[in-house]
Amino acid sequence: MCSVDPDELTEMTRATEGLDISRGDVVCRKCGTSKAEVVLRVKDAYCRLCFLLYFVHKFRSTIGKSKQIHAGDRVLVATSGGASSTALLHLLREGLNENSHKRLRFEPTFLYVDESCVSSCPRMGPEYVQKICSEVNSLDFPIYVTSLQQVMVPKPHPPVLFTKEWKDINFPTTSGFEENLRKLLCSCRSTTAQEDLLEQLRREIIVHSAQTLGYQKVFLADNSSKLSIRILSQVAMGRGSQLSSQVNFKAFHHDIEVYRPMREILENEILYYVDLHGLTVLQAPTFEPKGTSITSCAKEFVLGLQKDFPATIPTVFRTGDKLVSTYPDCGKPSSTSLNGDPDSDFTVGISSNRCALCGSHLDTGQGEASALHATLVSQKLSCHSSSHILQHTETNDGTIVSHESYNMNGCATEKTSDSCDCDQSSGCCGGGKIGSTGNRKPEIIDKDVIERYLCYGCRIILREMEEVHHLPIKVQRAAAGLEQRRRMREQIQDFLL
Ligand SMILES: [Zn+2]
Ligand SMILES: [Zn+2]
Repeated sequence: MCSVDPDELTEMTRATEGLDISRGDVVCRKCGTSKAEVVLRVKDAYCRLCFLLYFVHKFRSTIGKSKQIHAGDRVLVATSGGASSTALLHLLREGLNENSHKRLRFEPTFLYVDESCVSSCPRMGPEYVQKICSEVNSLDFPIYVTSLQQVMVPKPHPPVLFTKEWKDINFPTTSGFEENLRKLLCSCRSTTAQEDLLEQLRREIIVHSAQTLGYQKVFLADNSSKLSIRILSQVAMGRGSQLSSQVNFKAFHHDIEVYRPMREILENEILYYVDLHGLTVLQAPTFEPKGTSITSCAKEFVLGLQKDFPATIPTVFRTGDKLVSTYPDCGKPSSTSLNGDPDSDFTVGISSNRCALCGSHLDTGQGEASALHATLVSQKLSCHSSSHILQHTETNDGTIVSHESYNMNGCATEKTSDSCDCDQSSGCCGGGKIGSTGNRKPEIIDKDVIERYLCYGCRIILREMEEVHHLPIKVQRAAAGLEQRRRMREQIQDFLL
């Protein structure tokens, strides 16, 4: 099937009328003999055999050409029961069963994260755990189960191995944390922030489960349609700097290697594969956003364009795939992990150059000549009352420079006054809280303090939140620990050589 253009980069031309194969008179464009059963890119018809060869080749070549997965590697495969996950499950089974030299030689174990606690019907959770895990077990793969609310627990319970006696096992009850998780999502005002936060928490629990179970490698079933939508939505959500780690075949999250072996395959190809094999796809209960979000708009835009212009997704995907991060250590494991040891105190070993919420490289130290700085200044200015600004304008006769200026912490500071000496490095307006010079109430963490240790994308989530104390305790502790370290460094700065 190497005659198929691997890049699929074609001119963005409008598709002609789709090929109709329902009458059974169209033959496969590859072998030229068999009856076509699948139509790709609007007019490319394939028979069942040629399509499956093409599909498996795409999957195998993605893993093979990377040369990252070796014989005997233990890989934790995150599954959701959806079409992409189901196809991945069966591709792995087929690959491991092969007798030829092409046989896959690594050892997959599966992980299912139960997200029913944030769905509209949490009672359906156990039923789907049973269905999805039984399907994985039926193909002779072990599968572990964990739940999304574990991300809220200070010391999460390790994932539990699913067995035939699953009904008799009581998964640790975390009802209080379920409620906390729901409150956390509800405290976000916009659907975009809710979805983005959920995505960060989901990734966190998968990576944490891999650490707990001793897996260094994780497989995710992201396909190219989903990744193309993610490329556009992530840029719009202020996560452009993290694009490479969200789209590339290999990325690091908290020192765990995350791979995307389905990334070359389009969603409609996966649906054909699932259909041809008669596989059952399940829609497990999860969070259902109310209203539109940046992701839903990006999805509508990309899929709508894809109908008329079949090169849309490949073009977006390949373009996004070429983007690389400017951070020198991006894509490599961090020297210090945010939560490398799952049992360790979260404040030990935390890295000051990583986001306390998502673990990405902090992209906020861009200096004054940056779009980020301009956005922040504009945001802070618009937060202040118009009368305040008017007074300022009259005093200075239209000029912006003078006694009064706005710093990055959002404080209107009179430089001539001693009442407030805040600046970017000393914290401000958090009197009596961590982050203020006084540090009188260390148990309360100020929103401004947490924000300081978040990447730009996570700052947007935080700003949408009404209550920051709903955040996972680990995130709050990480921010508090980093703040204490910063203040300590500041205090001894004069004594340092
Ligand atoms: Zn054929
Ligand atoms: Zn972040």
